[in-house]
Amino acid sequence: MANNKKKEKEKIIYGPPRDEIEVLPGIRRYQFISKSQHRMLTKNLNRIAMVIIALTLTFVIFKAVLIGTGYSIYCLEDRACMRVLSQPEGENCPEYIFPVEMVISSRTADYERFIRQGGLRCTQCGNCTKWCILDINIPEVAARMQELTLEALAKGKIDSELILEEGFIDPQTREPLTEAAATARYSQPGYEKVLRLYTEMMSIIEQREVRFAAR
Ligand code: SF4
Repeated sequence: MANNKKKEKEKIIYGPPRDEIEVLPGIRRYQFISKSQHRMLTKNLNRIAMVIIALTLTFVIFKAVLIGTGYSIYCLEDRACMRVLSQPEGENCPEYIFPVEMVISSRTADYERFIRQGGLRCTQCGNCTKWCILDINIPEVAARMQELTLEALAKGKIDSELILEEGFIDPQTREPLTEAAATARYSQPGYEKVLRLYTEMMSIIEQREVRFAAR
């Protein structure tokens, strides 16, 4: 009886969730945890959820610092850097990359997201950095992630297909570049680092295929 009363006391009664405001027509944003009506049913469950969130954040922060992409922790994901995409030629992103996606993927060394978002094609020109309200050094984060991705490819942690299909594409057509097209594009001034990365990655993939063929 006393136990039941205690349980009743522990239970938090919230009203029915109210309709959230529409962010875009038909799209509502639900913010779990931060709003009382989305919290767990009891205080203890809330505490457990908070501990899990705190541990996850600690893991993300430590991982980013340890792998050398610590700048990415400061990213507010406000997408201010995306303004680079609407700038005139020479001041825009030459590869039409969403810089914010590159930065987010670098927090946890999410290679697949980094590759799919065009991170390997980042020339590190720095045009996007001036739009970042926190002055995050986006080229430095991209450069470190490119190094890590190269190492991961060499260790066999990344599928060759992913690099070939998504790594080096034409930013307009979104189609993978042929070897000749990639060499021509990345031989332009400003693309020196991308050319080096492309050459090293292709050489790793070639050696991998030779090994497979020899089996
Ligand atoms: S630093 Fe990379 S992401 Fe930023 S504008 Fe230059 S190429 Fe694009």
